[in-house]
Amino acid sequence: MKRLDKIYLGTNTKMYKTIKDTVEFLEKLAGLTADIDRNLMELFVIPSFTTLYHAKKAAPERLIKLGAQNMCWEDEGQFTGEISPIMLKEIGVNIIEIGHSERRHVMGETDEIEKKKVSAALRHGFIPLLCIGETMEQKNYGISDEILRIQLKIGLSEITADQAKNVWIAYEPVWAIGVNGIPADEGYANEKHGVIKDTLISMFGREIGGDIPVLYGGSVNPQNALKLIKEENIDGLFIGRSAWQAENFNGIIRSVLPLFMEKKKREGVEKHG
Ligand code: PEP
Repeated sequence: MKRLDKIYLGTNTKMYKTIKDTVEFLEKLAGLTADIDRNLMELFVIPSFTTLYHAKKAAPERLIKLGAQNMCWEDEGQFTGEISPIMLKEIGVNIIEIGHSERRHVMGETDEIEKKKVSAALRHGFIPLLCIGETMEQKNYGISDEILRIQLKIGLSEITADQAKNVWIAYEPVWAIGVNGIPADEGYANEKHGVIKDTLISMFGREIGGDIPVLYGGSVNPQNALKLIKEENIDGLFIGRSAWQAENFNGIIRSVLPLFMEKKKREGVEKHG
């Protein structure tokens, strides 16, 4: 099965849920979505570091993949406050979120740092979920496409095409994220996903670059989720606030799945006539 035959749906719970909250959330989400065929959907949750040990036991990997919100690029050493790939492997997480806008713009991470983290994640067998996106200032200067290309070309510069088969990308415009965010409209998001896909194809070839999932994130809600997922270049949704209650997340999942299936069918018909 090609990777893009599935829809990718996930949430990063940021610095909100305690161990108890996270376990309850995962158990409920796993139960609510257990009947959905995982050949059609990749569901993932990325909670805080302190919850990961318990989170791993709360939901089976075949139902929900587990991610870490950040990772150091070194295996061990004098890096006070950091968490290494070895430590995350010990817990058994699947995904490493790299370069979330809050890591870049609050914690000051650069594309060079994200590059080291992407390489380290792949070296240790994780899926790096590289988050990219332009600020409002960059959008106003009309340089969004250039920024996305730079973030991809530096962030993924050290990896081979074979390694790129395990990469996921999230397009999250900085101005669209969080409580003050303005959601991108579906046309704009689709156009930027097109730029991202073209860049990935130029880097890794059509077969591999074209098969890298590109998820949209930034103020996704039950209304715009439907419009976004209908768009040709949007392979999934990376959701914050609207997914933090299992019932709400399940509601979004149930509403976008049939639209995704229709889209795949339509694309299949167009391709094969
Ligand atoms: C995020 O932080 O990655 C995010 C998409 O958050 P929200 O959906 O709450 O804007």
